[in-house]
Amino acid sequence: MSKEKNKTRIIQHDLKFWKNLSVLLHSMNQSSTESEVVEIIGSFCKKTFLYDKATLFTRDYYNNRSLVIKWTDGYRGDFTAGEIFRAGKCLFGDVLKSNKPVIFNYAAQNKKRINIDVKNDPGFLGFFGIPIRWKNSVFGALVFETNYSLSEDGENIENLGFVQKNIGAAFHRMKEYHILHDRSVKDGLTKLYNRRAFDEAVTRELARSARYKSTMCLLMIDIDCFKNVNDNYGHLFGDFVLQRTAELLQKNVRKIDHLARYGGEEFTVIVVNATKKLSFSTAERLRSAIEQEDFEKDDISINLKISIGIAEYPTDGKDVEKIISRADIALYDAKKAGGNLVKHFKKERSTDS
Ligand code: GH3
Ligand code: MG
Ligand code: MG
Repeated sequence: MSKEKNKTRIIQHDLKFWKNLSVLLHSMNQSSTESEVVEIIGSFCKKTFLYDKATLFTRDYYNNRSLVIKWTDGYRGDFTAGEIFRAGKCLFGDVLKSNKPVIFNYAAQNKKRINIDVKNDPGFLGFFGIPIRWKNSVFGALVFETNYSLSEDGENIENLGFVQKNIGAAFHRMKEYHILHDRSVKDGLTKLYNRRAFDEAVTRELARSARYKSTMCLLMIDIDCFKNVNDNYGHLFGDFVLQRTAELLQKNVRKIDHLARYGGEEFTVIVVNATKKLSFSTAERLRSAIEQEDFEKDDISINLKISIGIAEYPTDGKDVEKIISRADIALYDAKKAGGNLVKHFKKERSTDS
């Protein structure tokens, strides 16, 4: 009898449920990343629910109408984590439109299960969906599917409402935290890391280079005659030029290097684990990418040039101040020689010792 009863239920048993839920909530803090939160929810689901397949999906950060499968457990013949589907006109997508948990049996539905072409239809009978939302923000959903039919009154919906609320709140806190954190280390105009983030990164990378006895280089980049751009075409066009320059620089540095907006029309790159020779070719690539670009907007088209100064750790300096000031001296040399140039710091030409 009790076995039969369990066959229609999703939650294992109430005592275990509440214990697991409190563990879940304690393990989530606002600085957790999305993948950490997903992992915690996944392990909660494994311990708490009876299902034949569990799926957690969230809205795609870049495209609100796309949903990304973040985690699955159980049956694997149809889809697994990493796949993307469209929200519209499918039962999985419908969960997002609901305010509360959704229970039904597939036999009573004629809509498509999920907008993914699957080779093997698992033929599930029961469907249980929990939207993950906080107030008006919908983050995604959890779906449990079963090889047996579910009865609506077989489940304690109130308990599931509680899960929904707390997971939604956790996602909300996490997003808020990361948005705020992003704002404090990123530059609003170019979306590059700002001076503060650069200061932290250069200190960290110098310490790392010292520990592993490796070299690293700092590039100081400055747009030539940028003031003329503002004077001739206005500040808004100047802003556009800075954004486009940032994109081009980002495209032309390695993923492991740190590009930042140092201030105004000045940028820096920390080229990690690199000698002067390698970073010279990086700098040349950046210089030439900017030189070749036509900066075009609203019937205006201009060309730009940048100058770059390079200093190397440990040859040119061993601490942050020295490295920055020597890259600055090299930049000044490049400007003095006419601009549109890359220069290394040269000890013999400098009065700085
Ligand atoms: P040089 O070749 O010697 O580097 O000369 P320059 O004109 O590039 O340099 P200068 O330092 O004289 O001028 C930099 C200009 O950058 C002045 C400032 O108004 C402008 N600027 C700084 N930040 C921004 C910004 O966020 N947006 C816009 N549009 N202009 C900015
Ligand atoms: Mg400048
Ligand atoms: Mg300049």
